[in-house]
Amino acid sequence: MQGMPENIIVGSHVWVGDPELVWIDGVVLNINGEEVEIQTSNEKKVVSCLSKLHPKDTDAPTDGVDDMTKLAYLHEPGVLHNLETRYKINEIYTYTGNILIAINPFQNLPHLYDANAMKKYKGEKIGNLSPHVFAIAEAAYRAMITEEKSNSILVSGESGAGKTETTKTLMLYLAYLGGHTASEGRTVEQQVLESNPVLEAFGNAKTVRNDNSSRFGKFVEIQFDKIGRISGAAIRTYLLEKSRVCQISDPERNYHCFYLLCASPPEEKEKYKLGDPRSFHYLNQSSCYELTGVNAAQEYLSTKRAMDIVGISQEEQDAIFRVVAAILHLGNVRFAKSEETDSSVLADEDSKFHLQTTAELLMCDPNAVEVALCKRVMITPEEIIERSLDPLAATVSRDGLAKTLYSRLFDWLVQKINISIGQDPTSKYLIGVLDIYGFESFQTNSFEQFCINFTNEKLQQHFNQHVFKMEQEEYTKEEIDWSYLEFVDNQDVLDLIEKKPGGIVALLDEACMFPKSTHETFSTKLYQTFKDHKRFIKPKLARSDFTIVHYAGEVQYQSEQFLDKNKDYVVPEHQDMLSTSKCSFVAELFPPLSEETAKSAKFSSIGSRFKLQLQHLMDALNLTEPHYIRCVKPNSLLKPGIFENMNVIHQLRSGGVLEAVRIKCAGFPTHRTFHEFLTRLGILAPEVLHGNFEEKDSCKKILEKAGLTDYQIGKTKIFLRAGHMAELDARRAYM
Ligand code: ATP
Ligand code: MG
Repeated sequence: MQGMPENIIVGSHVWVGDPELVWIDGVVLNINGEEVEIQTSNEKKVVSCLSKLHPKDTDAPTDGVDDMTKLAYLHEPGVLHNLETRYKINEIYTYTGNILIAINPFQNLPHLYDANAMKKYKGEKIGNLSPHVFAIAEAAYRAMITEEKSNSILVSGESGAGKTETTKTLMLYLAYLGGHTASEGRTVEQQVLESNPVLEAFGNAKTVRNDNSSRFGKFVEIQFDKIGRISGAAIRTYLLEKSRVCQISDPERNYHCFYLLCASPPEEKEKYKLGDPRSFHYLNQSSCYELTGVNAAQEYLSTKRAMDIVGISQEEQDAIFRVVAAILHLGNVRFAKSEETDSSVLADEDSKFHLQTTAELLMCDPNAVEVALCKRVMITPEEIIERSLDPLAATVSRDGLAKTLYSRLFDWLVQKINISIGQDPTSKYLIGVLDIYGFESFQTNSFEQFCINFTNEKLQQHFNQHVFKMEQEEYTKEEIDWSYLEFVDNQDVLDLIEKKPGGIVALLDEACMFPKSTHETFSTKLYQTFKDHKRFIKPKLARSDFTIVHYAGEVQYQSEQFLDKNKDYVVPEHQDMLSTSKCSFVAELFPPLSEETAKSAKFSSIGSRFKLQLQHLMDALNLTEPHYIRCVKPNSLLKPGIFENMNVIHQLRSGGVLEAVRIKCAGFPTHRTFHEFLTRLGILAPEVLHGNFEEKDSCKKILEKAGLTDYQIGKTKIFLRAGHMAELDARRAYM
């Protein structure tokens, strides 16, 4: 998206870079060689380099265009300005070709999603009506039916951008299209829709970025039968954030379910020995307990109702909430040094009470729970040695148990929902909906960010290839010649991360298997291996950090916790204790290990498993026709009406929207029907307009007269290179 300096003269309207607003418009006052003086619209005089300016389209409609490709000048400031213009009038959806950009309104716009709106979009081709999530779902559904091919809708964006809300809207519309009119019982689509609140209660939490942040990735496959009705569904989830169960920071919260249970009706609170959430260590590390606009007691009841609908029995619900309560009590068990030895004992009466309660709720023997928390057994060829843990190690053991319990519970829920909704083995076509974490770059970035950004590199590659293909198809349809400059592929970053052997994931596994490794030896190994890698940087001022040059920018990772976090390890003592629970639900969460797995003690790598899961996801996506929705968070205040340019531009860059625009610009980004072209530029050759020519030939004559050669004439449209429209407009200004 280079500047088009040759069109810029004194008096031209231009966009100039601004440290705060990213781009600001202005009028050229003076040109002195490369130096241009501009009067900006916020009454400043600035000097800029000619090549850094972009021309501003003064003919652009004042309420923006609903598709970026309709912009006469397709460049970054044009894209940004168009989005802002539309957002200000509550037009939150805009296309970029087939990609839908959705800007979070941070306010309810019910008319957008009601039954009337659904009816309106049904059967309409994309582009006939204003841009909408429904239009994308409609396109996916119609394509599935007519082309007999699976489709997918990929929703991405940063935390709080609106992915989950968008996903729910998509599913609502698909349920509307493919719904049954069954009068009795629950329908498949009802179950699919109600799986959302269940998963949200257990997998979402308040963070600084979003009050209802999904702490896991999700891919929902909705299966359809021969006549296009929903006949089954499968939900796959990715990487639940386990650490949140034991550790939260102000003003964030733990998973919603804990607070809901603390607000349950009195008899239930009594059953689970719960009370004020402030009395639990796993919750009181933050001073935030309530969510604005959410009534926890009501939410508890509606979660249970949703659980009913997805087929979780009363008994199972009771067991689930016993595990949730047990985790809270477990967190209140504290340890102290035993007086005689180094080992640990329960710190006080309160700890004894909570341990007892934990054991009761899990239906395990309290002694066994205590031993599992405080002791480790080592089996050597000669003997069996029992070792005591010091209080610190016992606390780590406790938290480990809590995290294991919670993540197994979450996996159980997902599996249960899948079984209960049921898969349709005869279904040939499906629509997959992906709601997965967007690119992350924080002050400190650990293993989680590494996995998340790895996911995004994968999806970005998929996206680029697709956008590229779509452009080609449009050219083929219009029967024009096309040849591309090049398109940037991120295969090199993916190699750096996932190549086998020798990629970062493989090196991390190697380090984890080697007892003497530390995060420092791991980092040193990375520095040596990737010394000359274009996408890898050893930061100057950090001893064990490493930086990856992602497609969306550089991210510096702190390697300290990488080894620990990569090890998926259930302490055998915990496993043994829980598998003897008298509660079959709990025991089944921890099936006894086969002799072999128990013996091999091979560590299981989260990174490698995640890589495999991602590969399966990509394989699944590759069998589908994809549709993309890019969600954008317009401000960090989570408030309506505020559009922060800097924030938005970052997201457009990292969401690949600008990359899609760039790919377009590398070809012939401006497409105009012959008629549109003549209306705008006929003035350049009035004699042609008055002559008796076919529209197509008139266009050609105008272009010839203007001296342009590098254009293409299709069957119905003119295709121009980036900047050429601006050049033609500039000529018009001279006339
Ligand atoms: P995370 O990655 O943290 O899960 P997310 O992208 O899934 O974030 P959402 O939870 O979907 O974000 O949206 C955050 C909040 O923004 C919602 O709780 C809701 O208040 C608001 N919101 C998002 N989309 C819409 C919409 N279309 N209409 C009204 N409000 C919305
Ligand atoms: Mg979400």
